[in-house]
Amino acid sequence: VTAFTLLLAVAVQLPGEVKQGEVVRVRVEASGKFTATMGVKSVPLFADGEGKLLGLMPVPVETTPGLSTLTVRDENGAVVHESPIAVIDAQLPIQDIQASKRMKSLKPLPDEMSTMRKLNGTLTDTRSWEEPFAAPVPGCMVSPFGVQRYHNGKPTGRYHKGLDQRGATGTPVRAVAAGTVQVSRMFNVHGGTIGIDHGQGVVTSYLHLSRLKARKGQKVKQGEVVGYVGSTGFSTAPHLHWSLVVHAVSVNPLPWLPAIPPCK
Ligand SMILES: [Zn+2]
Repeated sequence: VTAFTLLLAVAVQLPGEVKQGEVVRVRVEASGKFTATMGVKSVPLFADGEGKLLGLMPVPVETTPGLSTLTVRDENGAVVHESPIAVIDAQLPIQDIQASKRMKSLKPLPDEMSTMRKLNGTLTDTRSWEEPFAAPVPGCMVSPFGVQRYHNGKPTGRYHKGLDQRGATGTPVRAVAAGTVQVSRMFNVHGGTIGIDHGQGVVTSYLHLSRLKARKGQKVKQGEVVGYVGSTGFSTAPHLHWSLVVHAVSVNPLPWLPAIPPCK
């Protein structure tokens, strides 16, 4: 009877809808271990530092718009909450990239893709991030998250998994939130790359850098310089491409920080 009473006492806060490529915040007023599930994805809930639990459920940009269900379970697998959630069409634009011969001939280093996959799947219990994030460079937004990518007029089936900001070569790139540097490498396709674990499934990366500053294992604060803008790897001109990954899914960083004006 006690357990039953406790289950009834679990209060869950959830939005009724989410856009493709954004994150559902699952708030639970309880202590203990809980898991949120939506479609094939399950994520653990973590202490939010304010006495509640927070789960970050990423909705992949490729998700078909429509009704889905979000379920919260306790550590025994018992359902403590279930409610519908509408996935809204984000109406993502199309962009054609003119890939040069040099760009098309780029081959990743043997461990480049596996290193980035491992970075994106990093899951540590301690939360270092706080909101709002701070933009990594002051430049305007050249290309938003989620743009459907065409190369030389043909659909690639890929989406822009980060957002691009204007920045001249050598512009300092700053960590959007506190964390621990997991990747500091010069890659062939991603170019100069810094990857930061912010804890509890939140990861950011900064690509095409001309120079790296932060080293692997280094703890960084929000706003700390981790590298410098460049055009290394698969890049047409100097800019900063950065991305936010939540539980191994690339999501739109824009709702996490003050507005970044689009370039005119
Ligand atoms: Zn980009």
